[in-house]
Amino acid sequence: MTPLSIQPRPCTDSNCRGQHAPAERVALAMSLCGARGAQLTTLRRQILELLWESGRPTGAYELIEALKLRDSRPVGPPTVYRALEFLMSQGLVSKIESRNAYVPCTHPERRHDCLFFICSNCGASVELEDPRVAQLLVEDAAVLGFRVTRPVVEVEGTCASCIAAGAA
Ligand SMILES: [Zn+2]
Ligand SMILES: [Zn+2]
Ligand SMILES: [Zn+2]
Repeated sequence: MTPLSIQPRPCTDSNCRGQHAPAERVALAMSLCGARGAQLTTLRRQILELLWESGRPTGAYELIEALKLRDSRPVGPPTVYRALEFLMSQGLVSKIESRNAYVPCTHPERRHDCLFFICSNCGASVELEDPRVAQLLVEDAAVLGFRVTRPVVEVEGTCASCIAAGAA
């Protein structure tokens, strides 16, 4: 992947199903960080690329193994966790708590609640934005007097291709 040569194109489609080229999304992350004065170092960018290429929630140890294949320089867990913390602080990555794993946020260029559908069979995850769900969370939190810090919804089930292939 050569993100430097690819033009980022911010997405304005509110019904977007997240069908973006990984390289374009990494290029977008680079330009967002550049505009914010945040350092998307080589390691942070490589981790973001790996998450985009993976297409499913990926754990820190799996990332360490994938980094070894990409770059012989060994990277320890604390370094990878720090890079993931940075990527999350920039809204570029979300943690899937139920899997203890990470996925790239599809639309870091706009504020949104992340709604993830995760297939229990193949592990694939798809992110949607649904303003109706976001609105419900705002209303429910207001009723409770609750201040939301991580509006991430994780839905487990079976994806369309696994259903078509006859998996439960
Ligand atoms: Zn989009
Ligand atoms: Zn998101
Ligand atoms: Zn599946």
